[in-house]
Amino acid sequence: MPEIIQFTGTVLTGPDSEARGLWSINGRLTFRQPAKAPDRILAGWVLPGFVDAHCHIGLGVGGAVDAATAGDQARTDLMAGTLLVRDAGSPADTRWLQGGSDFPVLIRAGRHVARTRRYLRGFAEEVEPDGLVEAVRKQARDGDGWVKLVGDWIDRGAGDLAPSFPAAVVRDAVQAAHDEGARVTAHCFAEETLDDVLDAGIDCVEHATGLLPRHLPRFVEQRVPIVPTLINIATFPDIAAQADPKFPAYAAHMRALWERREERVLEAYEAGVRIYAGTDAGSVITHGRIADEILALHAAGLPIAAALDAACWSARTWLGAEGIAEGARADVVLCREDPRMVPDTVRDLAHVVLGGRLVR
Ligand SMILES: [Zn+2]
Repeated sequence: MPEIIQFTGTVLTGPDSEARGLWSINGRLTFRQPAKAPDRILAGWVLPGFVDAHCHIGLGVGGAVDAATAGDQARTDLMAGTLLVRDAGSPADTRWLQGGSDFPVLIRAGRHVARTRRYLRGFAEEVEPDGLVEAVRKQARDGDGWVKLVGDWIDRGAGDLAPSFPAAVVRDAVQAAHDEGARVTAHCFAEETLDDVLDAGIDCVEHATGLLPRHLPRFVEQRVPIVPTLINIATFPDIAAQADPKFPAYAAHMRALWERREERVLEAYEAGVRIYAGTDAGSVITHGRIADEILALHAAGLPIAAALDAACWSARTWLGAEGIAEGARADVVLCREDPRMVPDTVRDLAHVVLGGRLVR
């Protein structure tokens, strides 16, 4: 028996567009009222399921976690309304989470690719510059259309952040991924790393804390989005405090990046750079915090409609997922109030529907 769910209340088909009268029949959305009475009626403000554009499922503080833990992580995200995850690197094989109706839709990036001993232990496939192109090619084949590069990290010899790889090698690696039909995103904290990855034709940048005015027109012209992960950047002062005794210059750099984090996101938004919401859950950041990131983007100065859009309509379009449309997969969340008027309502959703199944 196909289940029919009727959604009463306002349907937000876009940040500024509304409709009324929506049903889920057999897991698909329709605006046409079915002849049969609904099995369930759900009330609230209906939005497409949230997108966490930077999340790590299968990753914990020590590296890969077991399957049960990975499943718990994915379910925690699901219950918070994240129905689509772009995984930004995981050492665990999480393909088993895909294709069913128990977990968020998962777009995998394979393993992070980092410079040898220049990232968190146990997270990445670590290579020297002469191995980067092959490593990226392999991850491009293993993942779901994305490759994650660790673009910079502390260089302990220099005592500060520094790009992980020479610019020319990054360019070849991005080209190799593109040849394999994959897009590349890069973890970038430092200013100069952004020049290198933009030169290389990168497809997305994570964190982008080192954003300077010279970078803005390039992000716009090259149509490169930013996933700021503000709730993770909030941990920079802790990282700096730990690093202070041995690496004072690095610590000072991290603090300076932290201090300007909000104004840089706002400058990017105002310049026309596309911004998407990502929590960076998986190691230090716990899962299920997409609402916190939406609200952090709003607190940085983005209008609430734009902060919601960063996790909703535009984010789904960017990743090739359906929104709220006739025949689309019924992946929606219901807020208790209009989230454009009462932003905090995203913290406590009324309902979560995944593939037409009520999960909350
Ligand atoms: Zn991350």
